[in-house]
Amino acid sequence: MNFDLGIIFLLQTNSTVNMKKHNFNAGPCILPEPAIEATINAIRNFDNTGIGLLEISHRTPGWERVMAETEQLWRDLLNIPNEYAVMFLGGGASTQFFAVAANLLSKKAAYLETGVWAKKAVKEAKFYGEVEVVASSADKNFSYVPKGYKIPTDADYFHITTNNTIYGTEIKTDIDCPIKLVADMSSDIMSRPVDIKKYAMIYGGAQKNVGPAGVTFVIVRKDILGKIERKLPSMVDYRTHIGEEAKDNSMYNTPPVISIFVMHETLKWVKSLGGVAAMHKINNQKADLLYAEIDRNKMFVGTAAKEDRSIMNVCFVMAEQYKEKEADFMAFAKEKGMVGIKGHRSVGGFRASIYNACPIESVQALVDCMKEFEKKNA
Ligand SMILES: *Cc1c(COP(=O)(O)O)cnc(C)c1O
Repeated sequence: MNFDLGIIFLLQTNSTVNMKKHNFNAGPCILPEPAIEATINAIRNFDNTGIGLLEISHRTPGWERVMAETEQLWRDLLNIPNEYAVMFLGGGASTQFFAVAANLLSKKAAYLETGVWAKKAVKEAKFYGEVEVVASSADKNFSYVPKGYKIPTDADYFHITTNNTIYGTEIKTDIDCPIKLVADMSSDIMSRPVDIKKYAMIYGGAQKNVGPAGVTFVIVRKDILGKIERKLPSMVDYRTHIGEEAKDNSMYNTPPVISIFVMHETLKWVKSLGGVAAMHKINNQKADLLYAEIDRNKMFVGTAAKEDRSIMNVCFVMAEQYKEKEADFMAFAKEKGMVGIKGHRSVGGFRASIYNACPIESVQALVDCMKEFEKKNA
């Protein structure tokens, strides 16, 4: 009797609007609670100045310190050597699609086409020269990462998208590349240790794993810049954003201070947990937990090729015989506090984005939800 009452009580508290939400948004997405707290405080009173972060000059010493620390956090967490510049720019990863080509493409560039973002990168590069699409997984709706392709050695660079946010596939190792390797790491940066030396350049929007929208990170080996003949507008030329003095780094124009501040706090949080190796371990645990349930549960199937499964975006659909239950599961999951699990329209079904800041408790809650749904419906 008491037990039954307990269950009823639990169900009631679970259905209130204030219940804990499990945030699986694909981006912008969940951020670490301490980063949000610190940002709220800084907006009120930045660096004990009595003035808020949004209301100070970016030339004040307190802000220059945040910029320098943010760069140092990137260098420490990813072991970025001195011959690489680290920049924080505006415009999103989408701006880098053309900036990469503007700065590096003389004649021909090679691209791996693994999804919509990769296709957009190809489209923009074509404004500046010839683009060879080395391999594509478009034939199977980008559900795998092509393998066994040949990288042309006469291309200026080879561009890859390491994590395909929409399709849940990922290049999980640092590939060997005979020419300059350029990677869009928007949605898996800081999720695992990266051998920076294998890349000529890495870039991405911050809003998947390292902060909010509004800031774009660019890591580039300095010696590859200034090798093209075309003239570039100042803002497009990476060299504009790399100053000899730290205060000039990414401060040619007004940087997106609020986004950089949140990134600074997010990286401090990553560091406090043990850095990217520790994040990688937790990320693998979270991904294993969810994929194991997808494979076990007879109502769901994963959409990505098993060997290419992303540890950041987990895509799944209803199994064929349960297709008509999709809306039911969506409603059931919503009732349980799951947010942002609707799959991208080009894949359908569901996508759980389990970035660094997504706690394993949320992944467990989703797994429990899938189990319960199976019990009730299968
Ligand atoms: C989100 C995303 C982008 C687009 O980033 P914006 O900052 O919105 O331009 C590009 N590439 C990948 C892999 C992404 O996940």
